[in-house]
Amino acid sequence: MKVKYLDLGKQFNCDHLWAYVRSAIANCDFVLGAEVEKFEKNFADLCGVKYALGLNSGTDALFLALKALGIGAGDEVVTAPNSFLATAGAIVATGATPIFVDVSDDYNIDPALIQDKITSCTKAIIPVHLTGNPAQMDNILDVAKRFGLFVVEDACQAVQASIKGQRTGSFGHFGCFSLHPLKNLNVCGDGGVLTTSDGNLYHRVKLMRNHGLKNRDEIEFFAFNSRLDTIQAAVANYFMKQLDEVTTKRIANARLYDSLLGQTSPFVNIPPRKDNVRQVFHTYVMRAKDRAGLIDHLLRCGIESKIHYPLPIHLQKPCRNLGYKKGDFPECERQSEEIISLPVHQYLEPDQIAYVCEAIKKYYHNRAS
Ligand SMILES: *Cc1c(COP(=O)(O)O)cnc(C)c1O
Repeated sequence: MKVKYLDLGKQFNCDHLWAYVRSAIANCDFVLGAEVEKFEKNFADLCGVKYALGLNSGTDALFLALKALGIGAGDEVVTAPNSFLATAGAIVATGATPIFVDVSDDYNIDPALIQDKITSCTKAIIPVHLTGNPAQMDNILDVAKRFGLFVVEDACQAVQASIKGQRTGSFGHFGCFSLHPLKNLNVCGDGGVLTTSDGNLYHRVKLMRNHGLKNRDEIEFFAFNSRLDTIQAAVANYFMKQLDEVTTKRIANARLYDSLLGQTSPFVNIPPRKDNVRQVFHTYVMRAKDRAGLIDHLLRCGIESKIHYPLPIHLQKPCRNLGYKKGDFPECERQSEEIISLPVHQYLEPDQIAYVCEAIKKYYHNRAS
């Protein structure tokens, strides 16, 4: 049996999709346009916010959110060191400095550790809803309120996740989403979305993504080109209709893994699942003893797996200049050596998940005997 990590070939080999895209671009309206507006309306409704803006990437969503809040040189932004690199990259691109805080056993920023890192330069917190599991927003919003900080959610992995029914992307001043092909709601190239319920911030980013243009010929300020293409918006609108189904399937797959693997094995470790929280499993990440051996064994069984992410951001080369070193974030570093992402995509069959779990059990059984 083969178990692929993802099956984009299957998803995009779809005549209905391309017929829809062809009709959407029949009038040669390739940049912004009606499909983008339709997508923004749908996406805002999906997140329970007033506004959404289609952008060219999740990275620019983070960058423009920080710029719109006036964050730049001399400012500090608190975030987690175990995210995808773009979270810190967007902070650096504004001229501000990323200040990392260690994570909890749910892989998300530990709210109890934030306060110690706050200085007179701190302007914002970027919690990352890693793996599609919402960060502890109650506590994070509480710290932010006490110290007068902005909150920008990196929800790139967390479309349709929620806490007590409230959707990710609706807690902070901004929510940032990616439509990258590897994300749960994806397009056939780069794309991103920014959500907010603040009218002033919305209007500011709307100009910022399009050179600062207030009409065809005049700008309000110098800015960027961070627009979402019509084609990508059409793809997003098409897949939006399937999103409930995709999310439900990923959650069901994860539940099946949870029950077959068990939370108490001496070899693999599944994070505790929380009540009232909807995790959408962009990745299914567990912790495993002797990870390299397990990955090899799975590959020999025809099973693909990945690591998100093997080298924490604070240990990346450019962070040496920021004064970070090994040992700074013990929990994050320990996790980076043990985590493994199993396939959890919507095309998996239950017997494939059972096969993966059997392969894992067999590996540790052989190792123990
Ligand atoms: C994918 C991702 C990004 C960047 O999104 P792009 O659309 O690829 O620019 C940022 N943060 C996290 C947590 C991500 O997973």
